[in-house]
Amino acid sequence: MEDCIFCKIIKREIPANIVYENENVIAFEDIEPQAPVHIVIVPIQHYENIMTVPAGSDVMRSIQIAVNKLAIKYKLAEKGFRLVNNCGADGGQTVNHLHFHLLGARPFGWPPG
Ligand code: AMP
Ligand code: ZN
Repeated sequence: MEDCIFCKIIKREIPANIVYENENVIAFEDIEPQAPVHIVIVPIQHYENIMTVPAGSDVMRSIQIAVNKLAIKYKLAEKGFRLVNNCGADGGQTVNHLHFHLLGARPFGWPPG
């Protein structure tokens, strides 16, 4: 995916502060953090959004493992955190490469805006 900013980060063509990697996933600090901890978790394979990932795929399993490891790494497990997937236009998705936002180290309101 030539014009995809997250594919470029994965290929190390543009810089990012990568904080976690496994065979299917990388995670890096969000460039515009919305919380003291704001990590973007991204599958290495380009999927436009969660609707295009095959059901039961290893990708979702790897994302769950990444969330678990990162929550421990950033000491979020005890107080909790927010895990967000923005999907499509109404969901507020701006980068069309599937990703999850792991946000923590502050309380979050509900419902979201
Ligand atoms: P979304 O709006 O859910 O598609 O989220 C895209 C996220 O990617 C936003 O929070 C952006 O701040 C973040 N972002 C965009 N470009 C970069 C980049 N080069 N490095 C890190 N995060 C980025
Ligand atoms: Zn991509």
